[in-house]
This record gives sequence, structure tokens and C-alpha cells, in this order.
Amino acid sequence: MKSKILISACLMGENVKYDGGHNAISSEIIHRWKEEGLLVPLCPEVLGGLSVPRPTCEVIKGTNKVICKTGEDVSLAFEKGATESLKIAKEEGVCMAILKARSPSCGKDVIYDGTFTSTKVEDSGITCKLLQESGIPVFGEEELALAYAFWKSKGN
Ligand code: SF4
Repeated sequence: MKSKILISACLMGENVKYDGGHNAISSEIIHRWKEEGLLVPLCPEVLGGLSVPRPTCEVIKGTNKVICKTGEDVSLAFEKGATESLKIAKEEGVCMAILKARSPSCGKDVIYDGTFTSTKVEDSGITCKLLQESGIPVFGEEELALAYAFWKSKGN
């Protein structure tokens, strides 16, 4: 049986982004995985109970604290979204995750710094970090070739 793959729902065209839109990517690999029923799309922020649309949020640099542009502290919702995502990842037995770049939940390696000034820092989003800490390899949406090579290396 081929390994499943967790993926940010917005990358699959689901309208779960903060502004009510999506970030659909066009990719032969993604299309094939989808056709084979191997993709597990989810949105951590929706799983955490946040609405669509919602205010933009950023992780405060060097912390796990997340605030909205409106000033509201949404750390608990982000934490819940990460925990729920990990639970689903385990239930589905995914071998890896492909997540949306620069998101305060999904971003890998680079996110915004919590000042809402478009300043980037080297860090990852709350869900990305929890998945990695739990042993689930994460690839950014811009690393699809690497992700495919990893998936193949798992005997798929
Ligand atoms: Fe996409 Fe992740 Fe943001 Fe949800 S939390 S809209 S899946 S980037």
C-alpha cells in the first residue's frame, strides 16, 4: 500500500485562507497523488476553530505566541490546530507533509516575525514545528521534487 501525504488544504484549492481564498498549485505530482487518493488535505487554523475569513496572524519572533493584526492572542487556537493536525497525520499514517510556505501555521523555515511589517525570520509555523518534532518530515510547497524523491525512497 502506498504511503499517504498530509497537505495544506489551501494548496488543494480549498477556500480556507485568511482572506477566504486559496493557494492552489498546479503540479503533475500533486495531481497524480490526488487521483490515487493519497493526499490528506487539512487546514490547521480551521481545525483550531478559527473562521474563514479571519484576520492575518503572525508568530511573535522566537516564541510560540501567535497574535492577529487586530491584537488578539490566538496562540491556543494555533496550538489546537497543530495538535489536531498531528492527530490526523498519525491516524492516516502519513509518511510526510507538504505545507504552504510562510504561513504562521504551515510555513517551513521562513515565516513573518510578528511585527506585521512583511519582515521574514528563520523559523517555522506552529503546525510545521509540531509535525517535525513528532518525526514527520515536512516539505514546503516549493520543494515538491524533494518531497517526491523522499516519498519514492519509502518504497512507493
Ligand atoms: Fe493554508 Fe495552512 Fe493557512 Fe490553512 S493554515 S490556509 S492550510 S497555509
